[in-house]
Amino acid sequence: DGSVIIVGAGHGGYQVAASLRQSGFAGRVCLINDEAHLPYQRPPLSKAYIKGSAGPESLMFRPEKFYADQKIELIAGRATSIDRAARKLHLASGDTLDYGHLVLATGARNRLLDLPNANLPDVKYLRILDESEALRKIIPSKTRVVVIGAGFIGLEFASTARIKGLEVDVLELAPRVMARAVTAEVSEYFQARHREAGIRIHLGVQATSIEAEGGKVTGVSLSDGRHLPADLVVVGVGVLPNIELAAEAGLAVASGIIVDEYLLTADPNITAVGDCALFASPRFGGSLRLESVQNATDHARCVAARLTGDKKVYDGQPWFWSDQGDDKLQIAGLTTGYDHVVLRGDPAKKAFSAFCYKGDKLLGIESINRAGDHMFGRRLLGMGRSLAPDKAADEGFDLKSALA
Ligand code: FAD
Repeated sequence: DGSVIIVGAGHGGYQVAASLRQSGFAGRVCLINDEAHLPYQRPPLSKAYIKGSAGPESLMFRPEKFYADQKIELIAGRATSIDRAARKLHLASGDTLDYGHLVLATGARNRLLDLPNANLPDVKYLRILDESEALRKIIPSKTRVVVIGAGFIGLEFASTARIKGLEVDVLELAPRVMARAVTAEVSEYFQARHREAGIRIHLGVQATSIEAEGGKVTGVSLSDGRHLPADLVVVGVGVLPNIELAAEAGLAVASGIIVDEYLLTADPNITAVGDCALFASPRFGGSLRLESVQNATDHARCVAARLTGDKKVYDGQPWFWSDQGDDKLQIAGLTTGYDHVVLRGDPAKKAFSAFCYKGDKLLGIESINRAGDHMFGRRLLGMGRSLAPDKAADEGFDLKSALA
C-alpha cells in the first residue's frame, strides 16, 4: 500500500501533503484534521488576527479547491489509535484507514493552569483559531487583562491587547521575560518597550488564585500577596507535545515522539514532524524538540523528499520570529549554551542584534528590527561558518563580505 496518512493538519501536516504532491508523489495522501477549519497559519493568532477584522479565510494556507485539485483527502476527525502490525489508523468516527506510511504531525496543546477558578469562561488560552476568535470577540467588552506567562505568546497577546485599549498586567515567574528563549539583553529591551507602552510587567511572581464573583473573573492573586483586578485572564504557560497516540502504539516517547536523524520512529513505517517530534540532530548533537514554523515546515519537506526517494538526514537551520508591538524579533540559529554576547547596533535606537558565542564560535543571532543581520545570520550559519566577535561588534565591518 503506497498511501501516506498524515495525522494533524497544522503547519507540519499541511506541508507534508503539499510537498509530497510537489515532488510528484502519485499515491493516496490523506490529511486527518481535527479542527473545524481548512489548514491555517498559527502565528497571526496572537498578532494580526486579534488586532484586525479579517475573517478566518485570511489565515488559510490554501482554498478548498487546492486539496481537490491536488487529490489531498482532507478527512475531518481525530485519530484515536494505531495498529502497527496491520498498518491501520483508527479514527474517532469508527473509520479505519490503511497506511503505507504514517506521519504524526500532532503538534502540541496548551499546558493548563492548575488554579482555583482556572476553568471559568473568562480564563482564555491561545493555541488554535477558535481560541483567537473567542478572544477577539470578547476583548471589546473587557477593560483589564492579566496575562499569565511572559513567553512569546503571552507577550504578543499583551501588546495586542494594549493596542486594543485594555489595561494589561503580565505575570512571570522567571526574573526576566522570554528567559528560556532569548539573551538578557533582548529580555531587557522588550521589558522596557512593553513598559513604555503602558503594560505592567511583574517578574519573579506567580499567580496563586483567580478570584471570581458569580462566575465572572474579578482578579488574580499573586505569590507576593498582591491582588490585581481583572475581567479577563489569558494564560500562556507553554505547551505539552501531543505524544499519546505514539506512546499508546508502543513507540518511544520522552519530551516528544522520539525520532532519528531522518525523523523516523523505530517503526520504519512511522515518522513524526514538527512540535511533537524529539529528533536526533547531528548538527547540534543530542536531540531537540523545537516549536517553530521553520522546524515544522522544514521537517515536512525532508519527509516528503524521503518518501519520494530522496533520503537525507534532517539538517534544517533553525530560525524564528516574534512580533511584539512595533518591534520585530528574529532569531537565527540556536542560541542555547552561549557564554558571551556581542551587540551590534544600539538598543536606544530600537535596532540591534545580539550575536551569541560559545568561545569564538557563533551559535546564533537575535535581531531586533534588523532584518539584514537576521538574513546574514541564516546564510552564514547555513554555510557552517562563524564570524569573529570583534567584527560582529564593528558596525563599520560589512557583514556581506563574510559570506563571500
Ligand atoms: P500544529 O500547527 O499545532 O498542528 C498540529 C495539528 O494536529 C493541530 O491542528 C491539532 O489539533 C492536530 N491533532 C493533534 N492530535 C490529533 C489527532 N489525534 N488526530 C487529528 N488531529 C490531531 N512559530 C514561529 O516560528 N513564529 C511565530 O511567530 C509563531 N507564533 C505563534 C503564535 C501562536 C499563537 C502559536 C500557538 C504558535 C506560534 N508559533 C510561531 C509556533 C508554530 O505555530 C508551531 O511551531 C507550529 O504550528 C507547529 O506545527 P505542527 O504542525 O507541528 O503543529
